[in-house]
Amino acid sequence: MTNGDTRLPGHPHIAHRDGLLQVEGVALDALAKEHGTPLFVYSKQWMLDALAAYQRGFEGRDALVCYAMKANSSLGVLRVFAEAGCGFDIVSGGELARVLAAGADPAKVIFSGVGKTRAEMRQALAAKIGCFNVESEAELEVLHQVASETGVRAAVSIRINPNVDPKTHPYISTGLKGNKFGIAHDRALAAYRHAASLSGLQVVGIDCHIGSQITEAAPYLEALERVLDLVEQIEAAGIPLHHLDFGGGLGIDYHGETPPAADSLWLQLLARLDARGFGRRRLIVEPGRSLVGNAGVCVTEVLYLKPGEEKNFCIIDAAMNDLPRPAMYQAFHAIVPVREGAGDSQTYDVVGPVCESGDWIGRDRALRVAEGDLLAVLSAGAYCMAMASNYNSRGRAAEVLVSGTNASVIRRRESIEDQLRSERPDGA
Ligand SMILES: *Cc1c(COP(=O)(O)O)cnc(C)c1O
Repeated sequence: MTNGDTRLPGHPHIAHRDGLLQVEGVALDALAKEHGTPLFVYSKQWMLDALAAYQRGFEGRDALVCYAMKANSSLGVLRVFAEAGCGFDIVSGGELARVLAAGADPAKVIFSGVGKTRAEMRQALAAKIGCFNVESEAELEVLHQVASETGVRAAVSIRINPNVDPKTHPYISTGLKGNKFGIAHDRALAAYRHAASLSGLQVVGIDCHIGSQITEAAPYLEALERVLDLVEQIEAAGIPLHHLDFGGGLGIDYHGETPPAADSLWLQLLARLDARGFGRRRLIVEPGRSLVGNAGVCVTEVLYLKPGEEKNFCIIDAAMNDLPRPAMYQAFHAIVPVREGAGDSQTYDVVGPVCESGDWIGRDRALRVAEGDLLAVLSAGAYCMAMASNYNSRGRAAEVLVSGTNASVIRRRESIEDQLRSERPDGA
């Protein structure tokens, strides 16, 4: 098993070549030696291929892909998408500042989120973003006030909660009645009438986002029909909608999941849009995970092997502060050795150094490892670095973007000076 090229499922640009794991044309052991561990490494080609799947699906249509940047908001990643002509879905003023720093076109930025502050609204209006995705009737009122004070009209879309079950983890389903997101389906028409009556607002669209890591087409098809039913009602009330935004949420292969490809999903959705006469409308999607998730790995070193009576532990130098998804959602990340070895494997719980029992990265994994070996935690491009923290005063990892045989450091490792900089122990 050590010769040739073994591609990992879902990871066409991450493969063992002659027994050594590479991202595109760059070997991970060399990167780890040069930059230390834990280290995030991303394939630029994987991101561009993932974007191309959406673009193929929308060929010949008036469509805009807005990368939901909360999945991975590193400037080097944002720049890849900005250069490819993407729009962006943001959820805070911080994300707006980041995406402008990465060179995005503000007209292609849409602003989602249930808790926008007045200051964030002013910042976004000053930047002339494309649209606010408003999530409550109270927010409509505040946005109208802020826009009126600023002397501009805010372009708005209202986020509808279509009440469909995306059949995913409860923490990442957002389109059910009990969720905090969006405006209930049966309040939507009233909210649109209200929005249309406010002079500070310009109604331009409708949006929904039903959840994340969705692995079937059916919930999207269901949400689409419900949104179109509403569009018909809203337009019959004399409020034209310029664009339809169906959110993000398409899943990736973490552990044998087989989500539809973006292009085939959109062929199905476009067939329904065409059948109902909406195929020529401006369409927006907000994918996050599906544009970056399997582009990334986290390279980590095995610090200690600790055999136990019930469990063997493999203690690595990456932890829940670097890779929060297992602790937050019991999520699965495949873990593979950087150098394929021979001999027997053992079953380990792979855990980090953080002082929490929740600090595990993988459970009951068969691994052939020794202390000092490097492991790669796969599918680490989305919701890992973007959720990383300094818990246990651990500095956040470095990040490398690989393109072909080129590797560039897009974020240096966070130093202890970085962490201490904003603190004033004497309160001065
Ligand atoms: C998180 C989020 C997305 C992206 O979700 P993914 O599952 O990463 O594709 C899109 N739109 C909104 C409003 C979101 O909150």
